[in-house]
Amino acid sequence: MERWRWHLRPRGKMVPEELEKEIQRAKAEGAEPFFVCATSGTTVLGAFDPLGAIADICQRHNLWLHVDAAWGGSALLSGKHRHLLDGIERADSVAWNPHKMLTVGQQCSAFLLRDSSGLLQRCHGTGATYLFQRDKFYDVTYDTGDKTPQCGRRVDCLKLWLLWKAIGTQGLARRVERAFAFTRYLAEEMKRRDGFRLVLEPEFINLCFWFVPPSLRGREDDPQYWSKLGKVAPVIKERMMKKGSMLVGYQPHGPHVNFFRQVVTNPVVTRADLDFFLDEIERLGEDLGGTPHPPPHPEPSSDP
Ligand SMILES: *Cc1c(COP(=O)(O)O)cnc(C)c1O
Repeated sequence: MERWRWHLRPRGKMVPEELEKEIQRAKAEGAEPFFVCATSGTTVLGAFDPLGAIADICQRHNLWLHVDAAWGGSALLSGKHRHLLDGIERADSVAWNPHKMLTVGQQCSAFLLRDSSGLLQRCHGTGATYLFQRDKFYDVTYDTGDKTPQCGRRVDCLKLWLLWKAIGTQGLARRVERAFAFTRYLAEEMKRRDGFRLVLEPEFINLCFWFVPPSLRGREDDPQYWSKLGKVAPVIKERMMKKGSMLVGYQPHGPHVNFFRQVVTNPVVTRADLDFFLDEIERLGEDLGGTPHPPPHPEPSSDP
């Protein structure tokens, strides 16, 4: 069903009216839709789908609503930001990765299910009597062994429990709020500096931006502008890696050429680190965007 239509996804969010139309179309073609996957915090843009309106549609058509909150689910821990996920309480299932924004040790991924009728057991259970005894002295519905496709696995939730014990509910909320504040600071700082151009105003902690080198500034009417700009991020990234100063991801997305995506979740990052980040991008990218220039060090000759 996925057909990339950027103009129908303002800010990368699902448009409920379009979902309704797609369901009608699929039914008209004789298909039987059964599942909708909404996203809370998309990987690149950090977009949050409007869960309430999507849940209404799912309810009307009797569809399973799954929310991929792998990235954005942690916002629920902050009273200030949890509104981004309004409606998630109506989901049939939710995926959430505390190892991302909360920085619980890799890996810690939760799958939360509304069902309490033993659905996972029915789907995945093998009932191997040599492993999973049903006649134990306690309530065996607490046993997880026969509910997953995996048999051997770690107690990943212990890491979340330990962090929660260590810093408390307020400590978790502070971690989330700090990450939002870092992003806000960087976005405002970028608007103050000449070379940074936001792809969109951040709603979450994904800060999507282009660095525009001096040679390209004010040159949007150059037909080569976007293709030249798309070559800037990979070179800056190569330079930061070779220098060993930073690691920041970039990607193209929909109609957009390569742009950086900065996400700061590390709770010990300081304002000085954020300023270094901005200065370093400027340093590494200031000579780019023009005609190709010789590398800073002459390539060794291949002649003996
Ligand atoms: C990270 C991420 C995933 C992948 O999660 P895994 O637990 O690593 O499989 C899925 N969806 C979104 C939106 C993500 O950001």
